[in-house]
Amino acid sequence: MMMAASPAQPRRRGYCPGVLAPMEVGDGLLVRVRVPAGILTAAQARRIAALGRELGNGLVDLSHRGNLQLRGLDADGLPPLYAALESLGLLAADVESEAVRNVLTAPAAGLDPQGFDVRAAALALDARLAADAAVRGLTPKFGWLVCGGGVGHLADSSTDVRFDAVADGAGFAFRVALGGTLATAVPIGLCAPAGLPAVAAAIARTFIALRAARDGAPRRMAGLVRETGAGAFAALPGLTPLADAAPPVRAPRAVLGVQSGWLGVAFPFGRLDVDRLDALAGLAERQGCGEIRLTPWRALLLPGVADGTEIAALGGVLDPADVRLRLTACSGAGGCDVGTTDTHADALALARRAPALAAAAGAVHVSGCSKGCAHPAPAAVTLTARAGRYGVDINAAASGAARWPDLSPAEAVDKVAALDALYRQRAEPGVGAEAFLATLAPADL
Ligand code: SF4
Repeated sequence: MMMAASPAQPRRRGYCPGVLAPMEVGDGLLVRVRVPAGILTAAQARRIAALGRELGNGLVDLSHRGNLQLRGLDADGLPPLYAALESLGLLAADVESEAVRNVLTAPAAGLDPQGFDVRAAALALDARLAADAAVRGLTPKFGWLVCGGGVGHLADSSTDVRFDAVADGAGFAFRVALGGTLATAVPIGLCAPAGLPAVAAAIARTFIALRAARDGAPRRMAGLVRETGAGAFAALPGLTPLADAAPPVRAPRAVLGVQSGWLGVAFPFGRLDVDRLDALAGLAERQGCGEIRLTPWRALLLPGVADGTEIAALGGVLDPADVRLRLTACSGAGGCDVGTTDTHADALALARRAPALAAAAGAVHVSGCSKGCAHPAPAAVTLTARAGRYGVDINAAASGAARWPDLSPAEAVDKVAALDALYRQRAEPGVGAEAFLATLAPADL
């Protein structure tokens, strides 16, 4: 058995954290566990929950890149964490190889009859990135995506290099595209599933070489392709012309709730805790096939589970229309050293007291400070904390001066509930929250 790897120095915000590159946040060290193909066994999930309980503060996050994050560790907890993750097969050999393993895999692969089973290709890509020293010059956050289509597709996820399965004879091939979503990425050709790791490595080497040849070159693929075009990539061995290739198969996305082959459950703000993770692992073992799939939607899929009764008691959300999934809030006092309010609890209070405003996606933003990490742009209603109190504003960003400053959390919720009542009473059908709030006169407010 290999020795557990050594950690890098804990990093401040702005980096892409890992296990070997823990990040300092407000509640201690945060570690991000990269899970190959996003597939955890129930036994792995149970052990990770136990590690979070023993070594961290018990909080677990689901990241937008389909990884698990443990929170609240300290430096003394890292060596036992590494030893345990190594025994689970979830520890990279070193910081550099961990950093490049940013592979997002369609979470319903192998479960969704409308999509192709891309699990083997995704695992092969992850292994190649971990082993190939020539790809270690990739820029931070450089990402890969492997998608089999169907109802659990990743068409809207943006990344640096995407492999989308398309029908090819009796099987499938991958449509390879650079820098964006399925709609915006620049296609460069087709590759066979078995050839994917080699094509990926060639793309990585070309990206590194093109950047090295240009001062101030963009750090991400979309920008580089805008500057240089995609010709150097399209000429790589292993790619064949797209010509008459079939389009990727996309069905209307249906992930949450009881689906054909899995039960999908989301958690507001992507926040779990070790008890819930442990309970989900038990559910996967008792009712499913002993697996948990990670998604980029801050949700989990439980393959083979067909009864959501126990999920509601765990605070899980099965209905994609649930207003709790529309809220935006940063970590606040629970996970950031700048935060002074419980942003998650206050946002959930708004879901109860201001349901009409909260139902509009992105309309309600609760920020732990004026930085507005979770949503830097304006929102219909923004609560911005300062020294334990909130400023409330409409159609504004967290960085601005609030129209109603210095409110206690309860007063801020009352203020938004009053705006919600106006919206429900006066807004014409179909008028959005932002448009309605913009029409209110000072006397209304
Ligand atoms: S907005 Fe402020 S409180 Fe919230 S995560 Fe960012 S820095 Fe921390």
